[in-house]
Amino acid sequence: PSGGRGTLGRNSSYTVNDMMAKIRVCVRKRPLSSKEIHRGEKDMASVSGRQLAVDEPKVRLDMTKFIERHKFVFDEVFDSDSTNEDVYRRTAYPLVQYLFEGGKATCFAYGQTGSGKTYTMLDDSQGLYVLAARDIFVKLRSPENSHLSIFMGFYEIYQGQLHDLLNERKKLHAREDGKNGVVVAGLKEFEIVNVEGLMQVFAYGNNARSTGSTRANADSSRSHAIMQIVLKDRASKTAIGKLSFIDLAGSERGADRGETDVKTRMEGAEINKSLLALKECIRALDQDKKHTPFRQSKLTQVLKDSFVGNSRTCMIATISPNNSNSEHTLNTLRYADRVKELKAEGGAKGTAPSDTENYMDDTEGELGGTTSAY
Ligand code: ADP
Ligand code: MG
Repeated sequence: PSGGRGTLGRNSSYTVNDMMAKIRVCVRKRPLSSKEIHRGEKDMASVSGRQLAVDEPKVRLDMTKFIERHKFVFDEVFDSDSTNEDVYRRTAYPLVQYLFEGGKATCFAYGQTGSGKTYTMLDDSQGLYVLAARDIFVKLRSPENSHLSIFMGFYEIYQGQLHDLLNERKKLHAREDGKNGVVVAGLKEFEIVNVEGLMQVFAYGNNARSTGSTRANADSSRSHAIMQIVLKDRASKTAIGKLSFIDLAGSERGADRGETDVKTRMEGAEINKSLLALKECIRALDQDKKHTPFRQSKLTQVLKDSFVGNSRTCMIATISPNNSNSEHTLNTLRYADRVKELKAEGGAKGTAPSDTENYMDDTEGELGGTTSAY
C-alpha cells in the first residue's frame, strides 16, 4: 500500500539495521491484560517484522464508523510475545559493549501509563537493568578489566526537582561542569560488586520511589526515574563510561492523567515540557547539531552528557494494544516516529508521520460486527 511517501517508503531505502547506530528507536507492544480481555477489548496493533500497523476506530460526521490504519517502521518492533530477554538482546546489550568502550549510553522507556515502561526497564527481577548488570559483571571479571569498578546511582525527577532515591529522597541540584557537561551534585553512588548487590540497592531505592512520605503509589507515573551504572577506574575513581536506564513519566496528556487541581496540572505541564525537550535533544544528537536545547527541562539538563560527544541512545516506546488506548498508542508512535524520522531522512521536513489508509467502512458490511463494538 505504500506509495513511497510515508514512513514505509522512506525506510525502504534504509536497509541496514545497525545495532550500534547512535540512536535507535524501538517499539514494544505488551499483551492484552486479562482485564482488557474480560472487558471484550480488541487488539488493534499488528506487528510484522519491523513494521507496526495500528487500527484506529473513528466516526464520520454522519456517524458512520470506520477504521483508519496507521503504519510505521522502527529499528525494532517487539511483538506481545517477546520476553525482556529478547528485548534486551536487541536494545541494551549493544549499549553494554559501548559502556566498556568508554561511552555514555542511555536507554529510555517512553509511553503511556500502563503500557509496560517499568516492566521493561526497571522490573525488580527481570528489567533490562538486571539483564545488563548480568553481562556487565561477566565482563568485569575478565582480567583485562581488573582495574575497573562499577558504581550505581538512582534518582528521580518529580515536579522538576531531583530526589536521591538512595539517600532518603534528598533534594539534589544539577550543576554545570565545563568538562563533563552537567553533574548531579551530591548524588549518592554505591559501589556494586555483583548482580545480587545491584538488585538489593535497586530495591532500596525503588521503595523510596513509591512510598515516600507524602506520595501515593500512583505517583511513580508522574516522575522520571533514572538508574545509572557508572564504570570507573578503580584507582583514580574517574568515570570511564556510563549506562543509564530511564523509566519516564507517563506520556499521556494532563486531562487523561486525571489532573484536575492546579498542582497536578502543573506537574503535567512539567512532564509534557520535559518529554518535548527530550525529543528535541535526541534529534539534535542525531544531526550532530552544535546547539542542543538541553536546558529546556531538568530531565534533558541532567542528561546533557548523553546528548553530546560519545553517546548512544536507545528509546523503547511501549504501547498498549487495546482499542480504548489506540489514541494514546498513536501519540506514542508519532512521538517515536518524529525522533526517528530525521535519522532516516537527514533533516527533511514536511512528510506525513505515518502511512494511513481507511477501510472497513460500515456500509461494506464485511467487518461491521467488529466496528460496531467501539
Ligand atoms: P508503566 O510503567 O508503563 O505504567 P507497567 O510496566 O507497570 O506500565 O505495566 C503495566 C502492567 O502490564 C503491569 O501489570 C505489567 O506487569 C504488565 N505488563 C507490561 N508489559 C508487559 C509484557 N510485555 N508482558 C506481560 N505483562 C506486561
Ligand atoms: Mg511504571
